[in-house]
Amino acid sequence: MINKVIDHMMIENRQHFMIPGEVVASVNEDNSLRHAFLVLTKVRYAKIPVLDHDDHLKGLLSLSMITNTMLGLDDLSFAPLDQLCVKDVMEKDLVTIEDPYDVENVLHLLVDNPFLPVVQADGTFTGIVTRREVMKGINYIGHNIDKQYAVTAREPVAKD
Ligand code: AMP
Repeated sequence: MINKVIDHMMIENRQHFMIPGEVVASVNEDNSLRHAFLVLTKVRYAKIPVLDHDDHLKGLLSLSMITNTMLGLDDLSFAPLDQLCVKDVMEKDLVTIEDPYDVENVLHLLVDNPFLPVVQADGTFTGIVTRREVMKGINYIGHNIDKQYAVTAREPVAKD
């Protein structure tokens, strides 16, 4: 179990961890792969959320999911970019968190995921929590913990 003080300081900063949905680059599940290809290339993020027309989170999309459809035996074909749409290739097996989220769970999940989509109970997308924002929070704790708490070293435990 995570240390209570760390948990408390992380919770104090929890709102700062989430990048709100309005500023998260995303595509619609019905967008053509051509459109999604342009968006992903322009924003330069490795993976972005896929939403439906009611802002529900439906999947995640990366550039390699698109370019995989273009691979021929010894050439690239651009035809799939107009024949397929985002929902045909997106990743649907999602790890998400609900707001308010448990800090300890988020720390565990961020080990294997560079970011976590935040959704409401009905699946509405509200934003993302990224490793970068959480690292900033940990940096803050490292610099401020002794301003709020007395941190002293324990006596070393005697070994026989
Ligand atoms: P970071 O921890 O900032 O490097 O972000 C990790 C990942 O989160 C990025 O590679 C993207 O896949 C995703 N991400 C971060 N910020 C955004 C954003 N504003 N819009 C869409 N995806 C983002």
